[in-house]
Order: sequence, then C-alpha cells, then structure tokens
Amino acid sequence: MNVYDGGRIRDLMTASGFAESSTPKGANIIILVTCAVRAKAEDKVFNQIASWRHTGEINNDTIIALGGCVGAELAEQILDLDKSINIIFGPRTIHRLPKMVGEFIASGKPVVDVTADAIDKFDYLPEAGAVGPSAFVTIMEGCSNKCTYCIVPYTRGEEQSRPVQDIIDECVGHIANGVKEIHLLGQNVNSYHGLNTDGSDCKFSTLLYEIAAIPGVERIRFTTSNPMDFTDDIIEAIKDLPVISDGIHVPIQAGSDRILEAMHRRYTAKQYVELIKKIRAARPTVHISSDFIVGFPGETDEDFNETMKIVNEVKFDQSFSFVYSIRPGTPAATLEDPVSKETKMQRLYILQQRLEELASEYTQAFVGTTQRCLVEGTSRKDENELKSRASSGRIVVFKGPLSLVGQMVDVKITSVAAHTLKGELVTK
Ligand code: SAH
Ligand code: SF4
Repeated sequence: MNVYDGGRIRDLMTASGFAESSTPKGANIIILVTCAVRAKAEDKVFNQIASWRHTGEINNDTIIALGGCVGAELAEQILDLDKSINIIFGPRTIHRLPKMVGEFIASGKPVVDVTADAIDKFDYLPEAGAVGPSAFVTIMEGCSNKCTYCIVPYTRGEEQSRPVQDIIDECVGHIANGVKEIHLLGQNVNSYHGLNTDGSDCKFSTLLYEIAAIPGVERIRFTTSNPMDFTDDIIEAIKDLPVISDGIHVPIQAGSDRILEAMHRRYTAKQYVELIKKIRAARPTVHISSDFIVGFPGETDEDFNETMKIVNEVKFDQSFSFVYSIRPGTPAATLEDPVSKETKMQRLYILQQRLEELASEYTQAFVGTTQRCLVEGTSRKDENELKSRASSGRIVVFKGPLSLVGQMVDVKITSVAAHTLKGELVTK
C-alpha cells in the first residue's frame, strides 16, 4: 500500500509542477513514505535520513517530508526526534502534500497534517501515470479488525472502501496505459463493501467479477485476505475466474488457538485448514502463502509447535515470518512477556528453515511445466534475459526479444536458481 501511495504522490507532485529526481543528492524536497508495522521499519527511516546527512546527500536546504504510517503514529513527536524534518503527513493526507509544501516554503515553520476521517484523498489525486505491465490499485483504506498486536488500525484509521466506479475507472485508465495485471490492495480486501453508483452495496466477490469483465484485464491479484472474511462467494469467484492469479496470500499468524484468540484473529487453526482445503478444491493449482508472527507475548513451546504443525499440514509456499514487535498503543503492548528474545529468535529460525524447504519443493516442482507469464522487463542479472512473473507469483527468466515486455507469454520451465525459474519461450 505504501508503494501505491508513493506512486500516487509521484503523480500528484508531477501534476503540481515538480520533477522526480533519480537520487536524493540535489533534490529540493525528499518525500518519505514510511511503515510502522514493526519497530525495525520505523527505525529505518530515521537512520536513512541521518545517513543521507552524514554522506552529504542532503543538506540544511533540503525540504524533508515524512509521511505514511510513522507520520500518523508519531505526528508532532517526530519534530523532537529529528529537527531537520519539515513536513509530516499521514496515509490519508497525501493529496494535501503540494499545499503543505507551499505552506512550509511560505512560513519556514514545520507543517503537520496527519489525519482525515474520510478517504477523500482518492478524489483529489490526478489520473494515475504509466506504471508498466502491472498496477497496484487500492480498493480500501484502514482496518477495523484491531488484532491486538497491530498498529495499522491506529495509523491508517478505520476501514473504508472506495466506491466501485472509482476503482473501475482507475483500472480502465491503467489498461489504456498498457497494464495487463491489476493488483488489488487493502488490509483486508475480503471485507470490501463499496458503493455501487445506484447506492447499493458491492462485496469483494462482485468487485472481482466486475474487474475481470474489463476488456484487457488479463490477471488479477489481491492482497491481503483475512481468513475470517474469506467467504464461499470469494472461493466461487476464484473457481469461475481464471484471470485470478494462482498466488493467494492468506495470513495465519499462528497455529495455536490460544494465541490466535489472544491476537483477536477470530478463527481457529482448524477453520483455517478447512478454508485452505476449500480454496484448493476450487483451484487445484493455487499456491498459498502466509504471514507468521512468532513470540507473541506468552507463546509457549507447545503453542509454537502448533504453528509448526499447521505449517507442515498446509504446506505453505513462499511466506513471511516475523518476531513479534511491541507497537505502542496496541492492546498487546501491555501484556506480560516472559519469553526471552533468544527463544523467539530460535523459533523464528526453525520456522523460516521449514518455510524455506517447503518453498524450495514448490520451486522444484515447476521444472517441466509451462507457465503463462507476464513479461515485466529485462532481468537484473543479465540484460539479455527477460524477467516475467507466473500466475503463482514466481519470477521466471528466459531469453526473448524486448518487444515481449508487457505481454503475456508461455514459458517452459527448464531449471531453477534459488526461487527464480528459468525457462524457454514457447512459440506456437
Ligand atoms: N492486514 C493483513 C496484515 C497487514 S500487516 C492481515 O491481517 O493479514 C502485515 C503483517 O505484518 C501481518 O500479517 C503480521 O504478520 C505482521 N505484523 C503486524 N503487526 C506486527 C507486530 N506487531 N509484530 C510483528 N509482526 C507484525
Ligand atoms: Fe492489522 Fe489485523 Fe487489520 Fe491485518 S487485519 S491490518 S493484522 S488489525
């Protein structure tokens, strides 16, 4: 979502007469879009600014605007942490940035504007610029689930869905710019409830059918799905619509029901396994990936073993895993936590080893198959090779002419290197 917000800020600033600089050095203004989901992400931004200053890439004349979730979380407090920051904005106030820059230039005083109740930012953003063959489209802002460890509901605000027509218009604009793949974004896309033009309610599965019906949409991805709201109609849509990708991300967080309850996730491990079974029955080629938190306050060895049990049962593909990070102001931040950092790190290591083994098995299994791939550009390692993405989300490199960039092609997988698939173009 930050990548999406960053892109929209680029569109907005360009429309306001600014030009993008390829390096921080020499830029008049630097805009940082930040993440607050873990403490590490938050520290990173302050270290980055200090490092730029140290290397002379920015100086006292550089205007620094810090926004996104850290902006919303800390607001004015940021001025105490780093006095060189001039503008502070939040995820919902990105559309006001040109105005904030103008105010700062006129007054020389810090400008702080981090909150907005409504998600009217979308109404004030210019048409999205060209982005390549795949485009992110945010369909909702915020989250109202209030999982006990999570800061997102406090930084991005309560969940609000964009109206259907807004989303369709943005997708149509992207398709006109050569986009083939639409990647729908939201903290919990499955609970999307947007307004139709006639005032009626549109749920996520209906939105999927509407987007699939736009001429030129060849693939749809969506992130993130909360298991709790993964209803049968969405599974039906996955079955009906081949344009929906094979890569489906369904964060589980933990395998112990006791921990899931303490996290306020509102599903049990058994319900999660049943859900995955249903998704796999609807789409046998699906690749399920997930997010895990280890070391939630009070997590015992037994709880952790439950997580490992479900990992082995579900057999996840390429997943994300993190050690629990205390987020100020969240309910879990006040919980007693007798588990040592070392134990948490050990658990993370064990989990990541197993996840890596499983992902490697999936990677190997692609050899000999033919994958429909969207060509994104040239490979970073070898300019003579094209980089593309299969429906599962795996990167596929192969030799082919540059004219294929932006096209869907079939590639026969011949070998693997780490998790990258290598193959040959299938010509009809
Ligand atoms: N809305 C998504 C997740 C968004 S945050 C969902 O509910 O699935 C992305 C991931 O960051 C989460 O799935 C979780 O695994 C991780 N995360 C969130 N808060 C965290 C915290 N306090 N400590 C460690 N990981 C966290
Ligand atoms: Fe955070 Fe839970 Fe909302 Fe995801 S569903 S953003 S983890 S509160």
